[in-house]
Amino acid sequence: MNIHEYQAKALLKTYGVAVPRGGVAHTADEAETVARELGGPVWVVKSQIHAGGRGAGRFKDNPEGKGGVRVVKSVEDVAANAAQMLGHVLVTKQTGPAGKEVKRVYIEEGADIKRELYLGLLIDRATGRVTIIASTEGGMEIEEVAHNTPEKIIKVAIDPITGVQGYHTRKIAFGLKLEGKQIGAAAKFITAAYKAFVELDCSIVEINPLIVTGAGDVIALDAKMAFDDNALFRHKEVAALRDESEEDPAETEAARHDLNYVKLDGNIGCMVNGAGLAMATMDIIKLYGGEPANFLDVGGGATKERVTAAFKLILSDPNVEGILVNIFGGIMRCDVIAEGVVAAAREVSLHVPLVVRLEGTNVALGKKILAESGLPILSADNLADAAQKITRAVVKEAA
Ligand code: GDP
Ligand code: MN
Repeated sequence: MNIHEYQAKALLKTYGVAVPRGGVAHTADEAETVARELGGPVWVVKSQIHAGGRGAGRFKDNPEGKGGVRVVKSVEDVAANAAQMLGHVLVTKQTGPAGKEVKRVYIEEGADIKRELYLGLLIDRATGRVTIIASTEGGMEIEEVAHNTPEKIIKVAIDPITGVQGYHTRKIAFGLKLEGKQIGAAAKFITAAYKAFVELDCSIVEINPLIVTGAGDVIALDAKMAFDDNALFRHKEVAALRDESEEDPAETEAARHDLNYVKLDGNIGCMVNGAGLAMATMDIIKLYGGEPANFLDVGGGATKERVTAAFKLILSDPNVEGILVNIFGGIMRCDVIAEGVVAAAREVSLHVPLVVRLEGTNVALGKKILAESGLPILSADNLADAAQKITRAVVKEAA
């Protein structure tokens, strides 16, 4: 789960990470009030969306105009710029061409930027450790820095037993060419960010840019946090920050029904029980020249309700031209699944080819139910047969 910049900054601040003062606003009037409370002489008006690249982004209705992060010098300008952002769609490198509507803005006191650096914490799957990435190239996309100038990336893996130590923070601080009191400030900053990362079960904490001010302070000018969904149950205060309007509606709907759904770019919808079988199904669709439209694991208890919800979800994707159902009836009986599929297909008045491969307990009865349903369901005997049938059906449909 992702949260907004202003929420991330508020959370990090409670751990001792230095951030500028600021306040969130939902209207231009609110923005002006926040600006007055902060005092001037410089403010930054920042669009709050779950995507980066806002500074260089452009508004859809004003493609030539200014970006999603603006430095202004009066409270009137804070209000005017907030009005130009709120309710308007911001397109950035990370939002895709559709962009995202700005519903909140964050008003911050302006910072005196001397240097822009990069600091990120994430879990390195190869070492299984929280790893700190730092670079002198702040404000840019770190992937590009890593690709073009890998020598400018500092990487430090943290042993979970010891946590962050002085030699870690010194290695980063020297690598960032910090000096004097900045070194101590960076150590405090990094230690606090690491503590937040571990205690809140984060998957990413990214500060880009981390700045050094004219006065030598080290502060977070931007903050991105993502959390491990499987640990949200033990962080109610974090879960409460969820902004569903920022998430993919299909994935939100899936989560509501306990379905594991990931949208993909192809045209063959897949409904499978078990994540491993779902992966294998996607592989075999590709082997026969097709492209899966999604990953979908309906889980062990594929009840009629869940199968119906899954069908609706798959069909909500306009690219879907055919569906492959691949279910292994282990705990579930195939006849129950077949009844679920038939009822769901009727309920959504299915209009694309449907191939069903059932295997397991009561498979003969399951196939009989499918055959006698009167619905145009193609039954398949095994995985290869199913993949061939659905790829052929979709090609035929397109021709
Ligand atoms: P992003 O583009 O979505 O990553 O948004 P950021 O919060 O990183 O802001 C983009 C850029 O705006 C930063 O890299 C800074 O150069 C600039 N910026 C942000 N806040 C301030 C500020 O307080 N003062 C000044 N002068 N520039 C700022
Ligand atoms: Mn940024």
